[in-house]
Amino acid sequence: MKLFKIKKSNIDKNGLYANCNIKKGTKIVEYKGKVISVKQSETNPKYDNGKAIYLFNINKRYDLDGDFKFNSARLINHSCDPNCEVFGTGLKIWVFAMKDIKQGEELSYDYGFNFDKDYKNYPCKCKSKKCVGYIVREGSRWRIKKKKKLK
Ligand SMILES: [Zn+2]
Repeated sequence: MKLFKIKKSNIDKNGLYANCNIKKGTKIVEYKGKVISVKQSETNPKYDNGKAIYLFNINKRYDLDGDFKFNSARLINHSCDPNCEVFGTGLKIWVFAMKDIKQGEELSYDYGFNFDKDYKNYPCKCKSKKCVGYIVREGSRWRIKKKKKLK
C-alpha cells in the first residue's frame, strides 16, 4: 500500500497526505530525480534563481534535480513545523517521517532555505503555530523573529 496520496493542499497547491498512520522513522517516499554535477547546477541557467526549489545537494560533486512530473515527493510543501525530513543515502534521497504521523495529515519538511536578502519572495503559508511567515530554514528563523521585534 502506498503511504501517501496526492491531494489539494491546505498549505499551497497540491500536497502529499498520509494514507495511513505512519511511524516515526519510516521511509515514506524517494525524492526522485536526475543526478547532475554541482558544476552543471552552477552553470545551467535553469538553476539560476539562487533557490532552485527542487534542487538538492547530495555531496561535494553531485546535486539532484527533482523537477520532474514522476517525482511526487516534489509536491511536499514546506512547513515551519514539519513532520518529515529529507536524508540522502548514497546518491538517493528519501523523505522520512520525523514524528508519528496520523492518517490524513499533510506531509511537510523544512526546505532548508538560507536566510538572505530575497527571503520575502518566499512566503510561507503553513499556518502552524511556529510559522515565521517565510520559507527559511529552522536555524536561520531567529533572524526573521529579530526583524519583526525591531519594527
Ligand atoms: Zn510557516
